[in-house]
Amino acid sequence: MTVDEKRKLELKTMYQIIGIYCHNKHHTSKGHLCEDCEHVWEYAEHRINACPHMESKTFCSVCKTHCYEPTYREKIREIMRYGGPRMLLVSPIQVIKHIYLEWKDKKRG
Ligand SMILES: [Zn+2]
Repeated sequence: MTVDEKRKLELKTMYQIIGIYCHNKHHTSKGHLCEDCEHVWEYAEHRINACPHMESKTFCSVCKTHCYEPTYREKIREIMRYGGPRMLLVSPIQVIKHIYLEWKDKKRG
């Protein structure tokens, strides 16, 4: 997987997870984000696009360098905790890929 593909997959996964969270928690219609979640997404998107570690790391959720600011970090952690497992129902292959990459990275050290 190239760095660019990784970045795109991370963006797609992040957007889907925020979407699931917002739809279930804030009762927004599918494919839409409320204002709060839109801000979180814009922030995450910006960080992912600007991430200097994309080549060596897997996903921002498992990155050692926490470039998210504390307020957003908490919010994103909450969203990941909620939306992560639910991704399994929506997009199993993508989640398996995610887990595999995470595992591979941990194993390497
Ligand atoms: Zn929302």
